[in-house]
Amino acid sequence: MLTTIIYRSHLHDNVPIKTLEDMVAKANNKNQSSDVTGILLFDGRHFFQLLEGPREAVQNIYDRICADARHHNLVELMHDFAPTRRFGNLGMELFDLREHDKATVLQAVLDKGTSRYQLTYDDRALQFLRTFVIARDKENYFEIPAANTWEFIADEPARTLQDDIMASLQDCHFAFQPIIDPFARRVASYEALIRTPNGGSPSEYFSDFGGEAIYHADIQSKKLAFQLASALGIGDHSLSINLLPMSLVTVPNAVEFLLAEIEANGLVPEQVIVEVTENEIISKADEFAAEVRKLKAAGISLALDDFGAGFAGLSLLSKFQPDKIKIDREIISNVHKSGPKQAILHAIIKCCSSLEIAVIAEGVEQAEEWMWLEAAGVSQFQGYLFAHPQLNGLPAIAWPEIK
Ligand code: C2E
Ligand code: MN
Ligand code: MN
Repeated sequence: MLTTIIYRSHLHDNVPIKTLEDMVAKANNKNQSSDVTGILLFDGRHFFQLLEGPREAVQNIYDRICADARHHNLVELMHDFAPTRRFGNLGMELFDLREHDKATVLQAVLDKGTSRYQLTYDDRALQFLRTFVIARDKENYFEIPAANTWEFIADEPARTLQDDIMASLQDCHFAFQPIIDPFARRVASYEALIRTPNGGSPSEYFSDFGGEAIYHADIQSKKLAFQLASALGIGDHSLSINLLPMSLVTVPNAVEFLLAEIEANGLVPEQVIVEVTENEIISKADEFAAEVRKLKAAGISLALDDFGAGFAGLSLLSKFQPDKIKIDREIISNVHKSGPKQAILHAIIKCCSSLEIAVIAEGVEQAEEWMWLEAAGVSQFQGYLFAHPQLNGLPAIAWPEIK
């Protein structure tokens, strides 16, 4: 199957440009022997390469290219399949855009092409190529610094519960993980994540309950979440709790119960954020909306969790607008390498900015993901990069500092 991969990348400052021809010639031999063709554009700083050929061969070459230390900020723009090659005649000639006249450079590149694609104006691959040649993607292409520019340093130690409170805990525990604004060096919120007494996952915890009992357990458990947060000295910080949307709908007086427990533990509703996952909202949207009105009327804010992972996506925001959305880890992971993820995130960020909805990125594990997201306008983050959830405690936070 004829596979196409397109990427762009940034030549490393310490690679002399005059060695490029040689580099490309060597790569070319490999490409030709594995029947991979394409075109490589260079604008003085960036590469744009289109690789086409048998699926496995293209992937192997691309994996090698990804591991090449001579360029960085490599972003895969397209990975697709096609009936014929666009640049079948060439090995991998280096096309230096600077050596051509601006007015005719695009035609000069297209003239290198083969087959009917020259005339196919709606071919995505050729559109990517045009966009690069006329530098239309500039504002969306972020030059993020190398990951080792930063070191991550914890300032305060973790906080744990006093032994007597620890001993009084029974069937249900909570781990806490911060959501932070790294540049402001501020904790935006602590999220309470339910655990079994052995530290087992939420799904393990809820597997003990069947039917509607899950919803009751979900609501009841929040009593302990508030107690622990208070005992751990959460102070003025916000506290995020997770609820199944159906828990709010099914359990009678759920909102009243939550409000009473918030007050009983010396907290205020304004510091509490309820997180719900988007895909469960849709089935009973009207009943859910009624419960949300009660939460909001009391001062509690609402966050849409795992945004982008379900099937509602952006259209859900036309029905109701939460105060915050948390973008699912699925979209966040390796965002710095993926053109499609970057495009989706640009759209989500733009949309939320128009609606004044705060955006949180969750599951951030790599410094490059965090830096790309900061460049794109996200300022709140949750993930192992900064802190793992800590069972019955508030973890130490690794704040980024420039080396
Ligand atoms: P969530 O609300 O999206 O919580 C974030 C999950 O991602 C947590 O998993 C957390 O441990 C994990 N996580 C955080 N940072 C990273 C990271 O950098 N990399 C990776 N790979 N994972 C990271 P956890 O604790 O297993 O919770 C899973 C889900 O269970 C939660 O997802 C939430 O939807 C649900 N949950 C947790 N507590 C409760 C609860 O009290 N009630 C209900 N209904 N659901 C809960
Ligand atoms: Mn959550
Ligand atoms: Mn989530």
